[in-house]
Amino acid sequence: MKERPFWETKTLAEMSAGEWESLCDGCARCCTLKLDDEEGHVFFTSVVCWVLDHDRCRCKHYPDRHKLVADCVELDADNVAKLNFLPTSCAYRRVAEGRGLAWWHPLVSGSPDTVHEAGISVRGKVVSELDVHPDDLESHIVKWVEA
Ligand code: SF4
Ligand code: SF4
Repeated sequence: MKERPFWETKTLAEMSAGEWESLCDGCARCCTLKLDDEEGHVFFTSVVCWVLDHDRCRCKHYPDRHKLVADCVELDADNVAKLNFLPTSCAYRRVAEGRGLAWWHPLVSGSPDTVHEAGISVRGKVVSELDVHPDDLESHIVKWVEA
């Protein structure tokens, strides 16, 4: 009988460091700038952190990200369920909520390209925060990602 994969048998807290890292689908939706309102609703924008490589959808300075970007939040098994800015598609959130991984997740499809092919990643849809005035952020709110 085929062994069930680790994301179906382990909780986030039980995963090894390698398993944890591999769980990220590479969408980079969490690297977009967000706005919120007084009721705590989160609105995603098409503006991304200046450190993101748009095409690869990967952080250009991953080991030093917290030194470079003060509000880059480190995900862990405890905070995933509490953070209100992770998209519904986020693999960590899906596992925490018992929804499993989607077909386009690289661990399921076996390819790092499916997250882009399925239109889940930010590739081709975003601009750098270096090119947008902070006062204009509201005009960049998008509907293709949900919190
Ligand atoms: S939203 Fe979740 S799965 Fe997507 S890049 Fe961020 S941490 Fe990874
Ligand atoms: S520092 Fe890297 S991981 Fe953090 S928000 Fe920016 S691009 Fe994303």
